[in-house]
Amino acid sequence: MIDSDKLAAQLKDPSSLLTNLDGREEYFKDATEESVRPTAVVLAQCEPDVIATVRFAHRAGMPVVGRGAGTGLSGGCVPDESSIVLSLEKMKKLEVNPARRLAICGPGVITKELMDVAAPHGLTYPPDPASYEECTLGGNIAENAGGLRCKRFGVTRDYIIGLKAVTADGSLIRTGIFAKHQGFNLQDVLIGSEGTLAIVTEIAVRLIPTPSTGSTILVAFDDPADAGRTVADITAAGIIPTVLEYIDGDAADCSNEYEKTDGLDRVGAILLIETSAEHRERQTATIRGFCESNRCSYLRHEDNPERASELWRIRRNLSKAVSEMAAIRYNEDVAVPVSRFMDLIAWVADMNATGPLRVNAFGHAGDGNLHVSFLSMSGDLAEKRLIHEGVEKLFRKTLELGGTLSGEHGIGKHKAPYLHWEFDEATVGAMKAVKSVLDPGKLLNPGKIFLD
Ligand SMILES: Cc1cc2nc3c(=O)[nH]c(=O)nc-3n(C[C@H](O)[C@H](O)[C@H](O)COP(=O)(O)OP(=O)(O)OC[C@H]3O[C@@H](n4cnc5c(N)ncnc54)[C@H](O)[C@@H]3O)c2cc1C
Repeated sequence: MIDSDKLAAQLKDPSSLLTNLDGREEYFKDATEESVRPTAVVLAQCEPDVIATVRFAHRAGMPVVGRGAGTGLSGGCVPDESSIVLSLEKMKKLEVNPARRLAICGPGVITKELMDVAAPHGLTYPPDPASYEECTLGGNIAENAGGLRCKRFGVTRDYIIGLKAVTADGSLIRTGIFAKHQGFNLQDVLIGSEGTLAIVTEIAVRLIPTPSTGSTILVAFDDPADAGRTVADITAAGIIPTVLEYIDGDAADCSNEYEKTDGLDRVGAILLIETSAEHRERQTATIRGFCESNRCSYLRHEDNPERASELWRIRRNLSKAVSEMAAIRYNEDVAVPVSRFMDLIAWVADMNATGPLRVNAFGHAGDGNLHVSFLSMSGDLAEKRLIHEGVEKLFRKTLELGGTLSGEHGIGKHKAPYLHWEFDEATVGAMKAVKSVLDPGKLLNPGKIFLD
């Protein structure tokens, strides 16, 4: 039970508290589609709303689950029945300071909204998750989101220069440019903490001059191993393209079906590359050379920005395209050293060819980051069990290759049981010690990252 009158009275607008949740199912889940009905939802409009909600929950001993746009892929903002979901989507302050090349943002600003507002000043915010038209900056910070251009420009962490955040007892803490002194680097502790340490209420980001766009190259191979070799050749040559994306043949088939185009079907794999603008011609020529020496079957080089953006749209729709093909899709996000990327894609291709399940993969090859999708066509229990086994095999293989179980989507709820596969006891113990200082009652996003 929640004393709703008491909480509502503390909010800027009492109607921001929702306790009748019929028709509000979007607040029960993230993009994994796991759905749990919470006790209440607060649509925070301002920082005092966040402080009031967290303080109320602290006194009542109720869990609080921060939520941005719900595009997460690890169950991070899925509540439990006793929780208050604290939605930050309405906190949309957005002030660009072109002279200082920074912006001050609310956590509910959509990543693309920031890019669009910075663009007329000749500035950009580089981290670009494929979901950038939907996800929020608060969610990006919580997950330390990556994206297509991250090999070249870095991830969310590299652009955050200040945070305001509310800890479990309702205290407001400040980091970076919001703090008077530097002190401990609390900012880096908060980034990537998945809403388990504090709720972010204000964000200062660094902007950079908008880089010119390079050439786009779409190249297909009959054999995924040849695509992997091309990635290895590009990396070994010290070339850092702006984007280097890998799409395997099965994921490409899903895209063709979804886009209803007569695109590239029955290919082994595709690489979608944007060369850097500064070295456009030299880089394009060298990359083309690697593609040809690795027996590519098709190569399209696009300098026209409109036609190139059509190719990138297809890449950004890929996740939806794969999901459309199955009753249930489990999307796992692993990363390995780029030198082992070839081994991982070969392993996935073999699993698809020889195993009982349809499995495909695409991802940010330049970072060794692969999104592996396990598809269940029937959605029945037997297939779900096979998927569970397949996911565990993938995790073992990734760790054997020196990789990590989460490239960019976080541990969340779904990978919490596997945290100890990757981290030793002392390291998990240190993380839990930090958690217990900032949130001794375990009320901020419980069951995420850690099982207990
Ligand atoms: C089609 C698709 C493509 C994607 N591509 C990428 C990609 O290329 N790169 C990538 O990194 N991710 C990608 N993602 C995953 C997802 O978009 C990111 O993790 C994103 O950062 C989540 O933002 P969100 O606003 O949707 O957060 P939510 O899903 O709402 O929440 C995610 C986590 O953040 C916490 N949280 C949210 N707001 C706050 C806050 N203000 N304070 C504290 N905690 C908070 C939540 O509690 C939860 O743990 C993709 C997802 C989809 C569906």
